[in-house]
Amino acid sequence: MDQHRIVCPDCGHINMVPLQEHYTETDCTRCKASLLETKPVDVDEESFDNHIWNSDLLVVVDFWAPWCSPCRLMAPDFEAAATTQPMKARFLKVNTDVQKSLAARYNIRTLPTLIVFKNGYEMNRRTRMMNTEELQKWTEKYIARCQAALSKRG
Ligand SMILES: [Zn+2]
Repeated sequence: MDQHRIVCPDCGHINMVPLQEHYTETDCTRCKASLLETKPVDVDEESFDNHIWNSDLLVVVDFWAPWCSPCRLMAPDFEAAATTQPMKARFLKVNTDVQKSLAARYNIRTLPTLIVFKNGYEMNRRTRMMNTEELQKWTEKYIARCQAALSKRG
């Protein structure tokens, strides 16, 4: 059976999970947290790298800062978009005030900046606020490409 790698949002353990159309209950083999959890994960450089390099899911990153009001306004939409993509995309948040080296690595000049990654590679970025629907449409396009690539591999 085809498997894909799912990084636990809680402990960062890399789980091998059979590819399925739908998932009912899938827990981390190490900490037992649900891998279906969709709440955006606040990451530092180490956990960011773990997610983007070791996950077969699309990774959607919100580069933000607490003083940026469009960022604060967009936060609920980012969360809402994440809930629609369990086991399809992992949503991460990078506080650029704290994670300065990540902001420098990706040359973040405008906030918010949203980047989609697949296996560590930047596929696209947007440098403006997006609502739930726009975020969903934007990420779905890349999820479809990831899944096509996975089924070709198998
Ligand atoms: Zn875990």
